[in-house]
Formats: sequence, C-alpha cells, structure tokens
Amino acid sequence: MRTQVCIIGGGPSGLLLSQLLHNAGIDTVVLERQTRDYVLSRIRAGVLEWGSVEMLRKAGVGARMDKEGFVHGGTYLAARNRGFRVAFDELVGKQVMVYGQTEVTRDLYAARDKAGGVVIHEAAGVKPHGLETDKPYVTYLKDGKVHRIDCDFVAGCDGFHGPCRKEIPADVLREYERVYPFGWLGILSETPPVSHELIYANHERGFALCSMRNANLSRYYVQCPLTDSVDQWSDQAFWDELRRRIPADAAESLVTGPSIEKSIAPLRSFVAEPMRWGRLFLVGDAAHIVPPTGAKGLNLAIGDVHYLHEGLIQYYQGDNEGVQKYSERALARVWKSERFSWSLTTMLHRFPNQSAFEQRMQEAELDYLETSAAAQRVMAENYVGLPY
Ligand SMILES: Cc1cc2nc3c(=O)[nH]c(=O)nc-3n(C[C@H](O)[C@H](O)[C@H](O)COP(=O)(O)OP(=O)(O)OC[C@H]3O[C@@H](n4cnc5c(N)ncnc54)[C@H](O)[C@@H]3O)c2cc1C
Repeated sequence: MRTQVCIIGGGPSGLLLSQLLHNAGIDTVVLERQTRDYVLSRIRAGVLEWGSVEMLRKAGVGARMDKEGFVHGGTYLAARNRGFRVAFDELVGKQVMVYGQTEVTRDLYAARDKAGGVVIHEAAGVKPHGLETDKPYVTYLKDGKVHRIDCDFVAGCDGFHGPCRKEIPADVLREYERVYPFGWLGILSETPPVSHELIYANHERGFALCSMRNANLSRYYVQCPLTDSVDQWSDQAFWDELRRRIPADAAESLVTGPSIEKSIAPLRSFVAEPMRWGRLFLVGDAAHIVPPTGAKGLNLAIGDVHYLHEGLIQYYQGDNEGVQKYSERALARVWKSERFSWSLTTMLHRFPNQSAFEQRMQEAELDYLETSAAAQRVMAENYVGLPY
C-alpha cells in the first residue's frame, strides 16, 4: 500500500491530523494498535483551549462540540477552603470549552468514516523504516500477515509509550523529565457538577479538582500518594476527602453518587527534543507529557497538529520550510505550556516533606493571584491557550 503520510496512532492527534490533511487533499493511513472501542473507552482530558476549539471547527468536526460543550469564561481557585474566580473572558477576552476527549475522538472517527478515511485497528508490531531517506515505509502485522505501507512522511502520534520516539538515535534525542511524588485519584460520577466552572483547590491535606463532562457527569480528583491503590478508596472515603479540601459552600452543595470510573494517574512533565528526525515527526504525547493541572495535554497535541498540518500542506505546494521548522515551532509553544503546567502543579499541591515556609509561599502566591489583576491576566492568558 502507498500513502503520502502514514500516521501511527489513532488517538486525537493522529485522527485530527488525518482529517485536516484529507481536507487539503493529502492522503493518509492511520495505524492504531487498539480496537476502536478500546480507544473510545479511555476517559481523559475535558477542557479545550479556544485555539483547539477553532482547530476542531476547521477540521469540520465542531458541530456536536458547539451544541453539547460548555463554554467557561473563568475558573475558581481555592486555598484554605475559600475560593476566588479568575475571569478569562474579562481579562483576556477568551474562553475555554468543556467537551470530553472521548467525544472529540468519537467525532473524529465519524468524520474519517464519512470521508472514507483508512484507519487500520489492531495493527501489531508497527515499525517505521528508512526515516533518514526520502522513501520511508512502515511495517505492521495484522491477521497473521506482515503488511508494508510506503509513504513520504511518518507522523508519530503514538502516545508516550509508542514506538516512534525510540526511532530517533540516542545521540540525537534529548529527554527532559520531572516525575512528581504524588498522583491524582479521579472518579467519574453521574451527578450534577458542584460548580458551573472548575474549582482548583490547594489544601493542607492535598490538592483537589472539581471538573465535569456534562450537566449530569462530574469528574473529581484528589491528590493521593503514589503508593495508594484504587481498592483502598471506597466511594464514601473519596467524597469525604473531597469535601474536606474544597471551599465550604461547594462542600455543602456537593451531590454524591456511585463512581462509574475510578483510577489513579501519576503526574509527570516530559519533553523530547527534537520533534522531527528525517521524515519522522513526533506529535502530542509521543513528544511531551504535562501533569493534568491546567488541562494542557490534549491541547498541546492539537497545537502540534496545527504546526504539522500547515507544514505538510506547504510541502505539497512546493515549500519545505514548515516541515523543516516543525520541531522548532512546536517546541517553542510546548515549553511555555510545560512551564504553566509545572507552575500550577507546584503552586497547588502538597509535596512530601513540604516545609512550613514552602506552604506559606504557596499561600502567598495564591493570595497574590487573588488580589492582582496583572497576575490573573497572566494565568488567564496561559489557561485559554497561547497563540499558535
Ligand atoms: C489517564 C489520563 C488522564 C488524562 N487527563 C487529562 C486531562 O484531564 N486533561 C488534559 O489536558 N490531558 C489529560 N491527559 C492527557 C491527554 O489525554 C493526552 O495529552 C492526549 O490523549 C494526547 O493525545 P495523543 O493523540 O497525542 O496521544 P494518545 O491519546 O495517547 O493516543 C496515542 C494512540 O497511539 C496508539 N498507539 C500506541 N502505541 C502504538 C503502536 N505501537 N502502534 C499503533 N498505535 C499505537 C494508542 O493506542 C493511542 O490510541 C490524560 C492522559 C491520561 C493517560
């Protein structure tokens, strides 16, 4: 089989890239290791920056998001059980959209199906070859047979654990990492959200977040030790702990119910450089991870897709510059979002052995944020998403 761009990974970045390239008349094949049902059962991100909203609309997959998503003009931060609001719309004239990654992915699959796009599921042993030549190809195993796809470029949209990043030689690849000494215990419950907008809470017992997916689907998190397991946390224990950490008025009005999903996610900051090697591009989680504080993971993946689809369209029009500069352009934005996610994580979490001085520093930072329009503008600008 031959295609112009072989995309490895059928998560949101791979599918969006495929859809945008298709709209520009560029042929792609997407290779996904899992089944479609598996991909669509993953509960992940929920907050879209405004640039992401516009990218999904541009791809022609924004209709259901615009109908069912929730536009948020601000968010709440809380310290010592008392909250204050940062109004993005008033401060920087932009908003965010709450619409789950699962729904984004579902819409993208529907669009690829409608356009007759090729997405090959349960492709095993996917391996790119000849990336340093101008005739790369990808092999994979399916139905007991080895298949080969010849292409012009390979897009590594295969997530943090995928094979593409490992193709970059060790003497070229640089990796930067910070692993945080705690995790997030998250639950999904079919209950109305406690607040119309998200609440990020700093508390002496640890961080908490009140988020949502829709009017009757809430997503809540509490910081927990990495040594905890989900079985140790009954629903009741989770609700009790959440109530202790969030503002008193929210705790009083919190509606609880059985969890329909419960998991513990570790927190990590990670960047791999460069994001292009020969004819291979790394996109999204394949190149970088952020802690979920500030909701940047999916948005960064969409940002990469923005730079790459532009570069590839230019390439097929005879201009190589966007492809050559993909890594540089994407990384400039990635590092700024890494900084924002790291600083929000540092300000809001309780670290092991945190001293009383460090606790005071966090409180002073939150106090400054509460009282300074300049500080709030900085937060708002980053939260709604830096320009591409
Ligand atoms: C548990 C969890 C919770 C998260 N919560 C949030 C959140 O609240 N907010 C936020 O902004 N972000 C969150 N994220 C991050 C966000 O979900 C990711 O940044 C986003 O999914 C990145 O999209 P992607 O397409 O680059 O990678 P992925 O979504 O990881 O997609 C990669 C795809 O590649 C496939 N693949 C992997 N290996 C192979 C292979 N060998 N061959 C073929 N295909 C392969 C995978 O099956 C997958 O479908 C969360 C992530 C996790 C894991």
